[in-house]
Amino acid sequence: MPSPTNQTSTRNDMLLKRSLRAVWHPCTQMKQHETLPLIPVACAAGCWLYDFEGRRYLDAVSSWWVNLFGHANPRINAALIEQLASLEHAMLAGFTHEPVVELSEKLSALTRGTLGHCFYASDGASATEIALKMSFHFWRNTGKPQKTQFVSLKGSYHGETLGALAVTDVALFRDTYAPLLSRSVQVTSPDWRAAGAGESPRDFALRCALDLERYLAAHHPATAAFIVEPLVQGASGMAMHHPVYLSRAREICDRYGVHLIADEIMTGFGRTGTFFAHEQAGITPDFLCLSKGITGGYLPLSVVLTRDSIYEAFYDDDVTRGFLHSHSYTGNALACRAALATLDIFETDGVIEANRGKAATMNELAQPLSAHARVRDFRNTGMIWAFEVDLAVEGLARRIHEAALARELLLRPIGPTVYFMPPYTISEEELAMLVDRTVEIVEGL
Ligand SMILES: *Cc1c(COP(=O)(O)O)cnc(C)c1O
Repeated sequence: MPSPTNQTSTRNDMLLKRSLRAVWHPCTQMKQHETLPLIPVACAAGCWLYDFEGRRYLDAVSSWWVNLFGHANPRINAALIEQLASLEHAMLAGFTHEPVVELSEKLSALTRGTLGHCFYASDGASATEIALKMSFHFWRNTGKPQKTQFVSLKGSYHGETLGALAVTDVALFRDTYAPLLSRSVQVTSPDWRAAGAGESPRDFALRCALDLERYLAAHHPATAAFIVEPLVQGASGMAMHHPVYLSRAREICDRYGVHLIADEIMTGFGRTGTFFAHEQAGITPDFLCLSKGITGGYLPLSVVLTRDSIYEAFYDDDVTRGFLHSHSYTGNALACRAALATLDIFETDGVIEANRGKAATMNELAQPLSAHARVRDFRNTGMIWAFEVDLAVEGLARRIHEAALARELLLRPIGPTVYFMPPYTISEEELAMLVDRTVEIVEGL
């Protein structure tokens, strides 16, 4: 009989071997796993992931930005168990159910009713595709079929299916597939790190908006929509901008008859300090894409909200004027129920307010990091923190990732950019641990 320790370590090792033999992991050069071991996750609770030997990792990136209220959250678990007893899924074409109706009503109410209709899919990239297709189709239905082009920001990320990748500007994801992508245009990002000496983030944002204005002034007859990640451009390295960019972009889009698509797949659900990031600019987008945190990190679900006036342009006796887009799992009842449980927690726990206090605490705790000689551009928006490590070291991101794992932290830097995007349930002790150990990592490089 092997000892219990041997048994459990065998379980870890066996799972890794089987995974490498059978699973093609995302966003990964698989050969790197010859030297960088996969991490087996046996179970998770709160902000922690555990392997079979009881080794643990603080999920400081909310498992790719999806988790809001911790793993194995008792309230979301209970809602899902209850939902399982009545309906797991039914097709949404020609049928409807309570969770999808209630979720649509609640999401719409969160936009103060300005976005009255919800269209569902299962992932963020599909939400982007839906918004792009809907925008084009709206213009076609209203006698402007020549509006076929899209504009996004430099360094934008909107997902990796071909349509979403066409408006994404991350070379590593995009260049290989460039021959497959339709053309889109990128305008200057208001990322304040690029501001001139003595120029405030606000002034810089206003200057960048001129680039959008110049482009649309010349090309609006051919342009359907401008798509933007409000306040924080996530995947290209947590680039943050002043909300005035969004208010100005709204004015410009209105002036030139171009839709504004807010991709809040990452920034929605309180991540930037307000329920939606675009609220900080006092604007309403024409399309609002949501996913990631929508189910608290439990189940794949995405949604595009739009104005009733846009919805009505599809409402006709002619079938082809309708939006004939679908996904098999559109409006999945279990996912909608997880989303409802998530919204419930926001309401009953006053999460947005509580997060403000937590973020202020974190900003104090983080001073040894923000003031560190090797740390550049330490920044914070809501429950997102990011900074660059100022060292010319080969394979910096991977070294930080590995050093973090050795200190029970899950960090996944983007190039030189280290970021924290923890579940909102993270405790002050856990935040302190995150800072202390990150300082150790930065000093040990
Ligand atoms: C993650 C993300 C997407 C893509 O979502 P997936 O579910 O990964 O397809 C799109 N836009 C933004 C801003 C994102 O952060």
